[in-house]
Amino acid sequence: MNRKLTFTWTLAFVAAGFLTQEAAFAQEVPKPAKMTPEMTEFWEPEPRVVTPGVNNAAPSDAIVLFNGKDLSEWKAKSDGGEAKWTLKNGAFTVGKGDITTKKEFGDFQLHIEWSAPDEVKGSSQGRGNSGIFLQDRYEVQILDSYQNRTYANGQAASVYKQHPPLVNAMRKPTEWNVYDIIYTAPRFKEDGSLFSPARVTVLHNGVVVQNNVEIKGPTEYIGLPQYKAHGKAPISLQDHGDLISYRNIWIREL
Ligand code: MG
Repeated sequence: MNRKLTFTWTLAFVAAGFLTQEAAFAQEVPKPAKMTPEMTEFWEPEPRVVTPGVNNAAPSDAIVLFNGKDLSEWKAKSDGGEAKWTLKNGAFTVGKGDITTKKEFGDFQLHIEWSAPDEVKGSSQGRGNSGIFLQDRYEVQILDSYQNRTYANGQAASVYKQHPPLVNAMRKPTEWNVYDIIYTAPRFKEDGSLFSPARVTVLHNGVVVQNNVEIKGPTEYIGLPQYKAHGKAPISLQDHGDLISYRNIWIREL
């Protein structure tokens, strides 16, 4: 056999071997199993059962913070003493300083009903001002924003001085307003720096007014917000000198 012929035969063997390997490889790789509906179902853990409330009543797993009877879940913010707001007709009304819950919370769903003073007086921030401080730091504004202009990021249901509400869903002063607040607490690293900011969704009378917005830090009256590391903390209600009333307050830890 001359050299040219030998080379040709060698090429032919290599090519044949390669083709054989290819064929074998194609046969050995298993085909993916045919998907069935069951393959994308999981059954455990089963969500626990919660009995929902009727007409805004607390669901079975909620912590009731105020049921119209007493202020036993609250204390004065200034000295930790008795919460001395006025209790009347199943509601309590602002008086004698900020109050705060005895319990502390992380992530939660909060339901709270409030009413601006029946007597309309003052304007802008001076009309029916109070506030709900999430984790004692981040204020969702309470204000009589019914036909009462003020700065947009300071009206009712704003995250104070950070996010105006998407719309003004305010009811008249003689009617009750409802906030449903879904809150994710901020997370901090071990060195105290911010890992992830707080987020909040707010429904005002069933209308979405804050859609999972990022809270930039404690809501300041003057200056820019800046986070400081903290753990679980209470819900606080602001005494701004106006006679806002509250009723039916419950919270679910998430
Ligand atoms: Mg306020």
